[in-house]
Amino acid sequence: NLEVGIVGLPNVGKSTLFNAITKAGAEAANYPFCTIEPNVGVVDVPDERLPHLVEMYKTKRCIPTAMRFVDIAGLVKGASKGEGLGNKFLAHIRQVDAVAQVVRCFEDENITHVEGALNPLRDIEIINTELCLADLDTLEKRMERVQKLIKTGDKKAPNEMAVLVKIKELLEQALPARRVDMTEDEAGLIGDLNLMTLKPVLFIANVSEDEVANAEDNEYVKIVKKYAVEEGAEVIAVSAKVESEIAELPAEDAKEFLAELGLKESGLDKLIKASYKLLGLVTFLTAGEQEVRAWTIKKGTKAPQAGGKIHSDIERGFIRAEIVSYNDLVLTGSSNAAREKGLVRLEGKEYIMQDGDVTYFRFNV
Ligand code: GDP
Repeated sequence: NLEVGIVGLPNVGKSTLFNAITKAGAEAANYPFCTIEPNVGVVDVPDERLPHLVEMYKTKRCIPTAMRFVDIAGLVKGASKGEGLGNKFLAHIRQVDAVAQVVRCFEDENITHVEGALNPLRDIEIINTELCLADLDTLEKRMERVQKLIKTGDKKAPNEMAVLVKIKELLEQALPARRVDMTEDEAGLIGDLNLMTLKPVLFIANVSEDEVANAEDNEYVKIVKKYAVEEGAEVIAVSAKVESEIAELPAEDAKEFLAELGLKESGLDKLIKASYKLLGLVTFLTAGEQEVRAWTIKKGTKAPQAGGKIHSDIERGFIRAEIVSYNDLVLTGSSNAAREKGLVRLEGKEYIMQDGDVTYFRFNV
């Protein structure tokens, strides 16, 4: 299960945004086997293709795919030294697959900023420094162990040490580990360290409700964007306050409210889409009279493993996948028409699934 951790300094709008996420929450009935902790929000991934498939297959059941967000509270200056909720915070963040940092870009004199005046770069740097320090700690512990292994003549240990040294040099300058050039093998050697600064990152610029429609004009957003470009990270602008209001409304009213604000989509939708991209995820679809459903896989997943998402039997007994791309299906109008035109392909176990593959798995039970 892929998760995005939401971090940020106190009073930047994290809880407000996270509440919007949990309120907008996915239909619990779709995820009966998930126990959801209070700091985890599960949301449906918006997908315009689903309603079209529902119509085409004349089905009533439609199950979108979902994403998990984790509210990681308690990050303050000094967290890596165990101040406040520091250590617990760090344990949480090691488990997520990507990090979304909420950055305060709204002015409000009634809401104090923990560090004084509004300054998004300083906020980003504080969090970055804490994460680098925590990773440095992890790294140093590992180096001690690897040093011992080297003495015993372990073959892999010197290679690992070389990678650790490379990363350490960066962390000591408060630069994230993701900046290190690593081969896949090298990354594999240190994968179990779960370095936090190795995780992909996204910035959520929280702007005030009257600026959200023209967030690009906001000076603070511009600053965050400039920084993000250097980091190779993405920025989305949202108004946490607007999101929390939208979450209270029925779908139709929410649309109207967005339109009034001059917005095409909610910040939450933007966040979900950006996170999906950040994590390198794609969606494949299953469709029939019983149900239409979207499934999340990592880019590069092969057909049998994609089938395994549905049921382990499919992966084990995989024969073939019958696949038509969503676009071909829509152009021809039905799966039969697509079949007649030769657009339904039979793919084997080396096939790499593509986004929008409408798939039927054949397998031995
Ligand atoms: P957290 O400490 O980061 O979780 O911050 P909160 O979500 O508790 O927000 C801190 C305060 O900022 C609360 O009083 C929110 O109502 C307010 N706030 C959050 N987002 C916005 C926003 O977009 N505009 C304005 N004006 N206030 C906001």
